[in-house]
Amino acid sequence: MSEEQTPPVRDDPDVVVVGGGVAGLFCAYHLRRAGAAVTVLERGALGGQQSCSSGNTGFVGTHGAAPLAEPGMRSWRSLAMLHPDAPFHVRPRADRELLRWLGHFGRACTPSAAAAGFRILAAMKRRSLEILLELCESDRIADTFAMPGIVLTYRSAQGFSAARAAVARTVANGIPLRVLEPGELDELEPKTRFTVRGALYNPEGAYLRVPEFVLEFARLLRALGVEIREYSELTGCTITAGKISRLSTTHGDLRPGAVVLTAGAWSTECARMAGVELPLQPIKGYSVTVDMPPSGPSRPVLLSEARVALVPLGDRLRIGGTLELTGMRNTISDRRVARMVRTVRDYLPDLEQTHTHETWSGLRPSTPDGVPVIGRAGPGNLIIAAGYGHIGMGLAPAGGELVGHLLAGETPVTDPVPVRPSRFGGRDRRPT
Ligand SMILES: Cc1cc2nc3c(=O)[nH]c(=O)nc-3n(C[C@H](O)[C@H](O)[C@H](O)COP(=O)(O)OP(=O)(O)OC[C@H]3O[C@@H](n4cnc5c(N)ncnc54)[C@H](O)[C@@H]3O)c2cc1C
Repeated sequence: MSEEQTPPVRDDPDVVVVGGGVAGLFCAYHLRRAGAAVTVLERGALGGQQSCSSGNTGFVGTHGAAPLAEPGMRSWRSLAMLHPDAPFHVRPRADRELLRWLGHFGRACTPSAAAAGFRILAAMKRRSLEILLELCESDRIADTFAMPGIVLTYRSAQGFSAARAAVARTVANGIPLRVLEPGELDELEPKTRFTVRGALYNPEGAYLRVPEFVLEFARLLRALGVEIREYSELTGCTITAGKISRLSTTHGDLRPGAVVLTAGAWSTECARMAGVELPLQPIKGYSVTVDMPPSGPSRPVLLSEARVALVPLGDRLRIGGTLELTGMRNTISDRRVARMVRTVRDYLPDLEQTHTHETWSGLRPSTPDGVPVIGRAGPGNLIIAAGYGHIGMGLAPAGGELVGHLLAGETPVTDPVPVRPSRFGGRDRRPT
């Protein structure tokens, strides 16, 4: 739909959801199913390049619930992060919010904090997979979802041995994972040759094909009666008697009963309009989508030490990865993209070079402890659902459900305590 064709919206919906990425769409889904009149505001096009939900590798399923903040990050690795070629690169700058974020990040790098983060993320990923499977039963959305399992590969003996040692703990947390015996990787991926020390397999590895999933989901939401307003940007809030009484947008004002803020990496600036400080930093990543090489893998593969993911999308292969804490500028570094693609050949040396269709960058909305911020904050009718970081596709279904439960005053399936926005001790600011 073009900007000119955008239909007029109701100016008094029960709930306005700000942001049309995967976080916003899942909130809209659960709220609408609970009977609310919902309007979604998206400042660009749904599934457009600006959204982090549009060009990622789409891994969902039960694997990959570890927060980014992990024990060891505070030691020599934190210094290595300053190198521009580091898989997780931090560009130092004199920015009070970045320093505060790094302080919280450092405190989250303890075994107990990482274990607590893992528990809530694993529970949310499991619940999200259930919601996705339910969604796929009844709709064309199923065409944008697949669950062929995921292979986690390790190039270094140290990396593989640490991963193998953690398998029992992962399984004890209800996540299926096993070590692949010699020869099993070849059986699973007969076309692809790997130069790795070992590999693990999770049969619940699944993926969403994006941006197609976002577009199909939006179609379903519109059919359910959700009003989705593209090219419509939130520009300000009016607060009366402790509640948001009016939202100003580039297409007129709205007087919602409640507001759900799901603006991804831009949630910080939107929250400030309501006088709320959020501890989010954008962590940039890239994806490159190429013609499927003849020796490309048939299922998702993670190149673990390099933090690079491969996902087959029919006749294409998407390579995604890199973590860059370099501010809100969503520009592409050719150097880092080239390095990411070179890394793939370290693991899959025979992978043929093919035509590149798209190089994309996205800003992951990231909290210091890797756990999203979901819950009430500031004005009485505001709920935040942001900070999904590097696993937002795999968390947003459960996060949206939690928002629905909180707004309806129902007992939530997902524990709201570990994700509460106030856990960083943030203060409310007066709106300007
Ligand atoms: C390279 C890469 C690979 C990734 N791979 C995976 C993966 O395999 N699995 C996984 O689970 N996650 C993955 N992620 C993370 C995932 O993409 C994000 O966690 C997720 O997309 C965040 O969704 P969101 O809805 O919070 O943010 P977004 O998708 O960014 O949506 C926020 C939306 O809000 C809109 N907005 C902003 N300001 C305003 C305003 N003022 N008014 C109206 N609208 C506004 C924006 O235009 C945007 O569309 C990856 C990320 C990257 C970068």
